[in-house]
Amino acid sequence: MTDWSKLSDAHGSAEGVPALLDRFEADPRGVWSELMDRLWPMLDTAFSASFAALPRFAEIAADRNPEERRWVLFAAGPIVACARRSVDGVAARAVYSSQIAELSRLTEECLRLPLEMEDYVGLLQAGLAFEDVEVWDEHLDNLAQGEYEVDCPYCGVNLFIVMGADGFFSCSDDYALGVVEKTPLRPTAPAELEGLAKRLHHQALADGQPALAQRVPYLFGQAACTDCGTVFSVADRVVANATPSW
Ligand SMILES: [Zn+2]
Repeated sequence: MTDWSKLSDAHGSAEGVPALLDRFEADPRGVWSELMDRLWPMLDTAFSASFAALPRFAEIAADRNPEERRWVLFAAGPIVACARRSVDGVAARAVYSSQIAELSRLTEECLRLPLEMEDYVGLLQAGLAFEDVEVWDEHLDNLAQGEYEVDCPYCGVNLFIVMGADGFFSCSDDYALGVVEKTPLRPTAPAELEGLAKRLHHQALADGQPALAQRVPYLFGQAACTDCGTVFSVADRVVANATPSW
């Protein structure tokens, strides 16, 4: 039995977490933000109680049909993605490896549902967390938002990489505010995508997400700095700008 009083969450003692998990089981969507406020409050931080909740998440997820399951995966995914940043987390990945593998399998089932792009990418990102795919298990969601913010590897200027309804371009100012200089992105030809990029592109097409699939070659393509003209790999800059894993 887990002794929750010895564990901590964002509020301190995790004694209240089991009751909160009971409420989450009854209403995942309604209780998700309250739960994550305690277990995952700052986007890159989880606590001993967050990791101790993983077996419970696997149980709750398995009991739900794929349609209702996504909020459980939206809770477990970010916590697992944080695991590599702490001793407790690394230990939890090993101890709960079978539950994490089960969460991975349950996520695959959900990806075949007809989903809004944002939910689809959220699930894809959770799936990458369960597989321990660093960086992209925390930064794939920008693909649904259609924007990444990176720095130029040469001059350091802050750049927006935009891919979506507004077009596919890079720019150094806030393009939403008015007319700015835009440089078109240079996508990789889909047939030339490799590794994770190839897999994400194929999977999005197979799962009926063509608009998302269209963005993948841009994320794994090149951009030019609007200030100094340096051409660089977008994905490499996303990786370089990501939170260190330890
Ligand atoms: Zn530059």
